Amino acid sequence: MRRGWLVPLGRALLAVLLADVLGRAAGWGALGAGGREFPRVALTFDDGPSEQTPALLAVLARHRAPATFFVTAPAAARWPEHLRALQAAGHGVEAHGRWHTHALLLPPWREWAQVRWHPRAGEPRPHLYRPPYGGHSPLTRLLARLARRQLALWDVEGRDWTPQPAADLAAQTLARTRPGSVILLHDGPAVTPELLDALLNGLRERGLTPVLLADLPPRRIGWWEGLGRLGASYGG
Ligand SMILES: [Zn+2]
Repeated sequence: MRRGWLVPLGRALLAVLLADVLGRAAGWGALGAGGREFPRVALTFDDGPSEQTPALLAVLARHRAPATFFVTAPAAARWPEHLRALQAAGHGVEAHGRWHTHALLLPPWREWAQVRWHPRAGEPRPHLYRPPYGGHSPLTRLLARLARRQLALWDVEGRDWTPQPAADLAAQTLARTRPGSVILLHDGPAVTPELLDALLNGLRERGLTPVLLADLPPRRIGWWEGLGRLGASYGG
């Protein structure tokens, strides 16, 4: 039985893989899109604040559109005035982690600190947490429940991390957007303010009104919707 350790190791790896696939891709039990019957969408920005925050704020102000920012602790410490500007403008501010690290790379005690950190920790709930990369460890759901954080994912990616012109990214994003969509964008890429402007014009043409994520409101991702997300994630 010299290889007896292979079975528990295999089981552990399977648990890790399942946690990430079911948590990140399917998103079962996390908050996803809102009701499809209302002509509303939520714009969300991860990774900020950044040097792009003032430009994003200017575009949002011009369109009178609210948005929700999932900020990280290092970025909030680096750009405190931008964080204050987001809150002063009435945008939502939620947590994107104490470190911008995939959950599978954090030991449990660091993931606990990761999930607990929140830019509005002392304020009334709800407190949303969007894990970096949407990544999940086998403990992510349990730790979030213990820390009274609600996991918040998305259903449409703006893909502003890819090297494409803003107009193309906006057209692709609009093609995937439906009533109730939660759109993932980033506070950091140079292309995002122009993409956001084109996106807001397109949303208005389609009669879709941007609201705070809390006002959408997002719904828990059920079994059926989760299956659809798996298909979208792995279907090309
Ligand atoms: Zn991120």
